Amino acid sequence: MKAGIYHGIKQVAVEQRDKPAIGPKDVLIQVTYAGICGTDIGAYLHGGDAVGIYPGNEFGHEFVGIAAEVGAEVQGITKGMRLTINPTDRRSVETSGMNTTEIADMSGAFSQYVYVENARLNKNVFRLPDTLPDEIAMLTEPLSVSMHAVNLSQATKGDKVLVYGAGAIGLSAVAALQYKGVTDIIVSDINDFKLSFAKKLGAIPFNSNGKSLPEFVKQTWGTLKGNASEDTWNADVVLDCAGAPPILQEYMDNAKINSTFVEVAINMRPSELSLFWLLAKETVIKGSRGYTPEDILQSIDALNQPDCKLKEIVTHTFPLEELPKAFEVGSNPNEAVKVAIKHSL
Ligand SMILES: [Zn+2]
Repeated sequence: MKAGIYHGIKQVAVEQRDKPAIGPKDVLIQVTYAGICGTDIGAYLHGGDAVGIYPGNEFGHEFVGIAAEVGAEVQGITKGMRLTINPTDRRSVETSGMNTTEIADMSGAFSQYVYVENARLNKNVFRLPDTLPDEIAMLTEPLSVSMHAVNLSQATKGDKVLVYGAGAIGLSAVAALQYKGVTDIIVSDINDFKLSFAKKLGAIPFNSNGKSLPEFVKQTWGTLKGNASEDTWNADVVLDCAGAPPILQEYMDNAKINSTFVEVAINMRPSELSLFWLLAKETVIKGSRGYTPEDILQSIDALNQPDCKLKEIVTHTFPLEELPKAFEVGSNPNEAVKVAIKHSL
């Protein structure tokens, strides 16, 4: 089979590899569409060690495809079925000797075939509805990341939600919030190109470069009084899909009483947390990592809604043979949001 291989910084190639052999409990999926994730771009630009993508290996974890081979003991999955997977549960930690990050990030979405060990429907393999095209269903994985965060935030209809970051996860958060009935959404970023997609999805974009986000949020949604007589902004939920150290402090300084902050971005630098404001405002701060099968099912359903606009974020589609070019384009934040790889069958 043709396989997209990671060779190190700025080095990806399409090479010939053996098609994986499957056991009686496994499924082999022929990939139709794959998405390049921010994780893949990070490995391409800065190295893959931190995200479990090592030189010489297949990689890519956002994809959909067709069941090409189904083990005799697999239940509920038949050859030809259109599927996506939970890449973190693609193989077992015990038999693979890898952790869940490595299992997911070296799934091989840029290869013609991906093998799923111990395939179980609605656990690690998910059937796609006939009404949902592959090029949209390909967004299930990034949307699941955001759906998990939105579910943890408990955002609901009538809430006002501030999203930091207009990358694929921030934009997917907009779609996840809309699926939950939330209509008042501000997306903050410093990149006008990415913010234009927040606008297309129906959120209010704000470029915070040299401008005050708290002032904008207060102007847009009004101010409230906090327990220490301070003025707070009127956001019920704040999702950090950007990952800059000052974000937590900006939230604590302006937070509405009883509001919720969810961290979705990977931010290795420490942030300062005011325990006084935590007490005075009784805020909830949560971390969101990965997703559950229920988040994945909700994401497939969200993408299948006629009014879901998330497909707008796919800015480019390249054939597998042009994988190096796809990574070059995908690395430019002023040109690309989500880059798709179309496999030929
Ligand atoms: Zn991803």
